[in-house]
Amino acid sequence: MSKQEIEEILAFYHNSSTQDLARRADTVCRMNYGNAVYLRGLIEFSNHCHSDCLYCGIRKSNDKVVRYRMSKEEILDAVRMGKDCGLKSFVLQSGEDSFYTCDLLCDIIQAIKEITQGQAAVTLSCGIRSKQQYAQWKAVGADRYLMRFETSDPDLHERLRHGISLKRRLQALEDLKECGYELGSGYMVGLPGETEEMRVNNALLCHKLQLDMVGIGPFIPNQDTPLAGQGGGSIEMTIRAVSLVRLLLPKANIPATTAAGSIDPQGREKILQAGANVLMPNITPVLQKKNYLLYPDKICLDEDGLKCLNCLKYRVLSINKSISLERGDSLGIGMKNGLCE
Ligand code: SF4
Repeated sequence: MSKQEIEEILAFYHNSSTQDLARRADTVCRMNYGNAVYLRGLIEFSNHCHSDCLYCGIRKSNDKVVRYRMSKEEILDAVRMGKDCGLKSFVLQSGEDSFYTCDLLCDIIQAIKEITQGQAAVTLSCGIRSKQQYAQWKAVGADRYLMRFETSDPDLHERLRHGISLKRRLQALEDLKECGYELGSGYMVGLPGETEEMRVNNALLCHKLQLDMVGIGPFIPNQDTPLAGQGGGSIEMTIRAVSLVRLLLPKANIPATTAAGSIDPQGREKILQAGANVLMPNITPVLQKKNYLLYPDKICLDEDGLKCLNCLKYRVLSINKSISLERGDSLGIGMKNGLCE
């Protein structure tokens, strides 16, 4: 994409109503992915975290959290259930929890590949680790890695992430890219101290990183964090952000996040009509997922994975799209590997 094309997209963004912006992003999304909405089975396998991000409900200083860790067998049971429902893409997400050593995660990745006969994509989302660990997980079959930068503003980043610099986060993303992962990142909208200029810069950073996946959700203040009582992000801000990223990265996979569905009952449908093409049904066992509360009023906590899948199917049909159970590899990564025209 040339500099001129980027400038044209930004001018359109600044001068258009949310409805027009979403309509154009939806057209670009359908041109690349048709009506398909890909599913990723999300397994939140540990809510322990040694970091202390100010906005996060499972930050280490929150002593109200009931902490849990899923065993390898519990994780594999969730994968088997997802596989029986037809899922071919699994996301293993946790706080930054060194209990899961490099070897333990290698074991789990290999076991998932065996259970799914190598058919399913495995995505990891367990924070900053060494480049060597990323390489080892990749070598045993991990396909994708998600690590949101949350804000592209270095000062805001360092403040909200309790001292962790944006530079360190970007270095980790660079390490992952060099290891050959399909790379995902993203950000929140409506963070305290955020400006419209920062929101545009967030989208431009996604473009600069040439991400394969971009997750964008509204900031929702958690009452048990230092940001309790602050204002949160709106669904309109989220729609605008998703639409802009879709225009800048036409071939990226973009989920309609659970956070969007948590601030608006139709939030995920609205985001899927504004450029998103992925949903992430939470297949974590109900007992555990009730304690993975990054933000309050999170939806779907009482539903098991199967119920979530059925509910999503009808939601997707209601907006003239359809669920796809394919792996849903990023078209962007195909281009990088010379697989697409
Ligand atoms: S945002 Fe991630 S790294 Fe930060 S406290 Fe929460 S789980 Fe830990």
